Amino acid sequence: MKVYWRHIPQANNSFAALAAACEVHGYEIDATDGPRPDVTIYSLNSINERLYRDEIAGADAITIVGGPHASACWREVAEYADYVVVGEGEYTLPALLSAIEEGRDPPPGVATASGYVPARHTVLLDGYPPFSRVKGFVEISRGCPFSCGYCQTPRLFGRCMRHRSIDEIARYASRFRDIRFVTPNAFAYGSDGVHLRLDRVERLLRSLDGRVYFGTFPGEVRPECISQQSVELVVDHCANTRLHFGAQSGSDAVLRRLHRGHTVEDVTRAFDLCREHGLVPVVDFILGLPFESDDDQRATLDLVKTVTRGGKAHIHYFMPLPGTPLEDARPRPLLAETEKVLGKLALDGRITGSWMDHEIRFFRHTSHL
Ligand code: SF4
Repeated sequence: MKVYWRHIPQANNSFAALAAACEVHGYEIDATDGPRPDVTIYSLNSINERLYRDEIAGADAITIVGGPHASACWREVAEYADYVVVGEGEYTLPALLSAIEEGRDPPPGVATASGYVPARHTVLLDGYPPFSRVKGFVEISRGCPFSCGYCQTPRLFGRCMRHRSIDEIARYASRFRDIRFVTPNAFAYGSDGVHLRLDRVERLLRSLDGRVYFGTFPGEVRPECISQQSVELVVDHCANTRLHFGAQSGSDAVLRRLHRGHTVEDVTRAFDLCREHGLVPVVDFILGLPFESDDDQRATLDLVKTVTRGGKAHIHYFMPLPGTPLEDARPRPLLAETEKVLGKLALDGRITGSWMDHEIRFFRHTSHL
């Protein structure tokens, strides 16, 4: 049976991890730019899903769809795809491929138009290679104990953190000169995500040879985890000159309603610690949150301006994602003064990101296609 992975840039790391998991079971998966028989696999997020929906519906191949959007909206996706992998794919995907090959019913964890039986397993990272023929970033931790209202991560991977062992991380990291990790919070390595184990972070960093980038793309950190000790670990053992963390709002009231689990003061303390240690703070913000008042939005804008005086701000416009507590919320329009200030900061090269309405961004982007 020939199995292909539909090339989608945002899903490259999933391709690396799932191709490796399938290879263990004897399935070699090649990339393709369109559906091909016998089986073509897609991994979709909620922004790109509509780009591939018609292609999947009309495919002359058996189609399997997974990823954050398919996991949250499996009923809808099962209307146009043959199989939907809900949640983690390392165990389920090879089991599904062998069920298809042998003409059996799909395993638990797979939805079809005729129903869905939830998976009964949790993936332990050491049980699966992070990559094989197709290289990807090494995923060191999965799951998140926090429950930020806009985020799909704890809904997709659960609230219990699981970690790859130091030996396994070092083994795969040795294949790179520049070493980067996938994690919901790099400083939470080896811990439950709330009570940090920086001794384990230090052991991990000491075990690695090469230029290590830690607490920056694609594995950022939470602001309250930035301390004298954690910053010194980065300065002493890593190559990055930036530390990337999420503030999201400049209003404590909004942070509470988001269940972010940190305060504005945590953000400013983190910002100062980075600066004192010579690291450039790169800070994420979300504007247009549904319960943001005018004053809340102004407070966020003030914090953005403060950040840009000694670091970088990365701005997002709120997007309600399926499967999250805020999936039915509507984004709030930006104040005219907010748009003006953001436009000026962007022109000066002090902020990046996108804060226009996602629908507008989407249709502008896809008009080229
Ligand atoms: S935004 Fe980060 S901390 Fe919050 S739930 Fe998602 S992964 Fe966890």
